[in-house]
Amino acid sequence: MIALCWLRRDLRLNDQAALYHALRSGFPVVPVFVFDTNILDDLEDKADRRLQFIHDALENIQLQLKPLKSTLDVFSGTPEAAFRHWMQKYPLKAVYTNHDYEPYARNRDAAVAKLLEAGGISFHSYKDQVIFEQNEVVKDNGEPYTVFTPYSKKWLSKLDDRHLRSYPTEEYHTVFYQQEVIPVPSLRSIGFEETVRNFPDSTPEDALIRHYDKTRDYPAEQGTSRLGVHLRFGTISIRALARKARQLNQTYLKELIWREFYQMILSHFPHLVHRSFRPAYDAIQWRNNEEEFARWCRGATGYPIVDAGMRELNATGFMHNRVRMITASFLTKHLLTDWRWGEAYFAQKLLDYELASNNGNWQWAAGSGCDAAPYFRVFNPALQTEKFDKGLEYVRRWVPEMDEPAYMSSAIIAHDAARQRALEVYGKALKNE
Ligand code: FAD
Repeated sequence: MIALCWLRRDLRLNDQAALYHALRSGFPVVPVFVFDTNILDDLEDKADRRLQFIHDALENIQLQLKPLKSTLDVFSGTPEAAFRHWMQKYPLKAVYTNHDYEPYARNRDAAVAKLLEAGGISFHSYKDQVIFEQNEVVKDNGEPYTVFTPYSKKWLSKLDDRHLRSYPTEEYHTVFYQQEVIPVPSLRSIGFEETVRNFPDSTPEDALIRHYDKTRDYPAEQGTSRLGVHLRFGTISIRALARKARQLNQTYLKELIWREFYQMILSHFPHLVHRSFRPAYDAIQWRNNEEEFARWCRGATGYPIVDAGMRELNATGFMHNRVRMITASFLTKHLLTDWRWGEAYFAQKLLDYELASNNGNWQWAAGSGCDAAPYFRVFNPALQTEKFDKGLEYVRRWVPEMDEPAYMSSAIIAHDAARQRALEVYGKALKNE
């Protein structure tokens, strides 16, 4: 009999909850992965860098399995088709995987569990991608928190060494099922193209984390960890990272708590995928001007800090957090464009795209989210630049033409007029809030 370990957003062999339990099950283990066509068919960009990232991570796992005379088994198709295939191929006894909290994933896992159980195969799922799940940090009355500060206090008060302990999968490596290597399908064979591999490193310097609170707000510097994509696909263990954060820098640990805060929020309020947390915000009369939106997307608003951010995003798949806040505020307040438009654009482009964090932060920027800044706080791009990119190093890197007269006269709208308009339109929608 055989056990499968189904990898999804936990693309590593070390300190991995499901793999640890699979290896201890007593059955030889085959790690498996599905290139899920339900998801991939919706991706318009066939040179999507995230596919390259995933592919590289799978190849890396394959390399680690080779000396153990084992292999990863990768299927391209729907998850149900994949498991039908594996049920034919292996004498399956059990499938191990880690919890995935997004609405699509929950439905997918329920369908697969049903299929397996009908075939007499057990399905086991574990917490792996967070320290605390949605119901582990709640108010004393059992309700979910909707404000970050008390949530983070409770989170920290619950944290002890037990939660950060690593799963020692390396002690059980002899339990992988031994068979010939099954090559990982090429990107081309699943309808995608290879892209440049300019991915951030998965092991940040201790010094970076140690000084994070002093460097994190300056987009010209390499002052943040760039681990978002590794957390997204599980090429780093959240427990290992949280251990490091706890030891080196509380501000960094707090960022990891934000990540769990938004995951918790989306789990409790799945309707937020489409709707505002504060319902009155869905009455805002967005202008949704398509031409302005296109200018925002390509970094041609005439506001250097906004354009720099969008160009960085388009060119690299990354945008610094400070600039994400500025560009998001600009789209929703200055251009009065529905936050869902911006959210969808970031979802296409960000390497570290994460539904819960993206949605939560966009709603924060638009003012519609839980614990969001009051709507009348409209970021001033010039003041933000003055504060966080004083030497103009970041904006010049991405907008070298910023001093040319043609650029200087190309602003999409004057700041004061935009601010006034935003206050009026928001104010009208929210007068009864
Ligand atoms: P660091 O500053 O080094 O932080 C370490 C980790 O903490 C991050 O990788 C991330 O996992 C977590 N984190 C930090 N800030 C936040 C935050 N505000 N909310 C949630 N988690 C946080 N983050 C995503 O992971 N995916 C997204 O799709 C995403 N979309 C965003 C959209 C907008 C409009 C804004 C304002 C922010 C968004 N963020 C998102 C949050 C944040 O900008 C990124 O996590 C961060 O910039 C990633 O860079 P880093 O890994 O260097 O982060």
